[in-house]
Amino acid sequence: MRRAWCTSTIGCGKATSRRDREILYEGDEDEEKTRMKMFIEGQLTGAQGADEIKVANPATGEVVDSVPKGGREDAKRAVDAASEAFKVWSEKPALDRSRVLLKIAEVVRANVGDLATTLTLEQGKPLGEAQSEINSFANTCEYYAGLIGRERGAHTPFSTGEGFFIVTKRPLGVVGAILPWNFPVSLMGWKVGPGLAAGNTFVVKPASTTPLTDIRVASLMVKAGLPPGAVNVVTGPGAVVGEELLDNPKVAKIAFTGETATGKRIMEGSSKSIKRLTLELGGSDPMIVCDDADLQLAVEGAAWGRFRNCGQSCTSVKRLFLFDSIADTFVKSLAEKVKTIRIGNGMDRATHMGPVHTEEQREKVESMVEDAEGRGAKDIVKGGRPTQTELAKGNFLVPALLGDVDYDAKIAREECFGPALPIFVVKDLEEAIERANDTPYGLGSSVWTKDVERAYHAAERIQAGTTWVNSPPIARAEVPFGGFKQSGFGRELGVEGLDHYYETKSIQVLEYGKGKKWAFPIN
Ligand code: NDP
Repeated sequence: MRRAWCTSTIGCGKATSRRDREILYEGDEDEEKTRMKMFIEGQLTGAQGADEIKVANPATGEVVDSVPKGGREDAKRAVDAASEAFKVWSEKPALDRSRVLLKIAEVVRANVGDLATTLTLEQGKPLGEAQSEINSFANTCEYYAGLIGRERGAHTPFSTGEGFFIVTKRPLGVVGAILPWNFPVSLMGWKVGPGLAAGNTFVVKPASTTPLTDIRVASLMVKAGLPPGAVNVVTGPGAVVGEELLDNPKVAKIAFTGETATGKRIMEGSSKSIKRLTLELGGSDPMIVCDDADLQLAVEGAAWGRFRNCGQSCTSVKRLFLFDSIADTFVKSLAEKVKTIRIGNGMDRATHMGPVHTEEQREKVESMVEDAEGRGAKDIVKGGRPTQTELAKGNFLVPALLGDVDYDAKIAREECFGPALPIFVVKDLEEAIERANDTPYGLGSSVWTKDVERAYHAAERIQAGTTWVNSPPIARAEVPFGGFKQSGFGRELGVEGLDHYYETKSIQVLEYGKGKKWAFPIN
């Protein structure tokens, strides 16, 4: 008998419908086969070696599941499968690719309950956030399904009048998508959505701590009509599986999201075969609140922007700059708001903020807070580990607000990937902009004001890939996203995101009888 995806180990938010089960398990007589496997050439498969990676629940420390610890040979097998699938997928008419992407979105949405449960269990985020992440994956597929086939190129006569040229776009080939653990599914969508639309195929390397939902999404993609091999998921250490993707000459592009230091290694490794690259790296996003801002809106924006996903977003609000005249009122109101944030297991619907993803991450955040306190920072809202016994086994941290923070503190200079927010008081917009730009990062930023001139002035001067005006950091499928400075290069999402999955090809056509000027020898 076929069962739903959720097992007693995984746990289940709600039962899947019969129709969904059929989509999930068609052909799989033994549901246990769907666990502990990678996904290569449309099949759930083991690795060559017998080692496994255990996936732990950040809220309880319990093992949720385990996946094979893949090696270079497994990655090579997946690259070969993607390379074969490229021959089929890249030749499909745009309309066919568009239809498959729409079907993928439909099937993923139909399974949002189970996928979100798995995501919460492996990543830690609250169920509501997990559901919105799964839906965001579907949105991205739908956006690129709509875009593909509707692009226009150029036909231009040569300036010399000898003929004309046309500019066409060709897919790149096999793409290695290397993913982080903070948004394992939506960030996979940012890569496979435009990449598949353009005709490329993929080997996905998920973070070792969050492989489960990605494997399941990839399996659903093939069930929805994607040719086997067009998306493969290989689990295993970045230093092995990831490095094979960098080395393998059949991989044409690496699309990476993660830490800036890893991004530097990816650039270096990709240089051997001059791979195309998009790098979406760390950020230390400033939020500037002017004296004319809607303060209540901005307080909500600061709480949303810093504490969503337990502060583990590349575009989380990581430095808050307040105009002097509104600072006291704002801080008081934000502190009241932050004290109402309920931390807990993401599976509990009452939870606002889940655990930090790993113990290592928790210790990093704690050490940044301690460093700031050691330099004289004041605890506006004291963070630290919670005292409730039911949270003792998870990597929980109470959200923290810090005032009087030294500009040289680590929390001001490095990326703080967790629920702690340093607050700085500035005299005016110019000082805020100068401070905001005093970082090697340049990913997101926001400015809060009712004055459109002020907003535009700031947006034009802040060195960041995105400036949100009166909004917390919300990525949208149609808006290009990426970094300035050491936050990376290339763009994901939007029309620009699609462009990064193409080679531009020029075809020059000489009109018959007009080419005499290039007769050899040249006189
Ligand atoms: P990493 O950059 O180390 O990991 C991201 C991905 O890269 C993972 O899949 C990882 O695999 C892989 N990887 C690691 N080393 C290599 C390599 N040599 N070649 C190819 N792939 C590799 O980030 P972490 O997950 O370790 O997080 C560390 C810090 O990075 C966080 O504290 C945070 O500051 C920042 N971060 C920023 C993100 C952002 O969106 N801006 C997202 C996530 C993290 P594996 O998991 O197997 O190591």
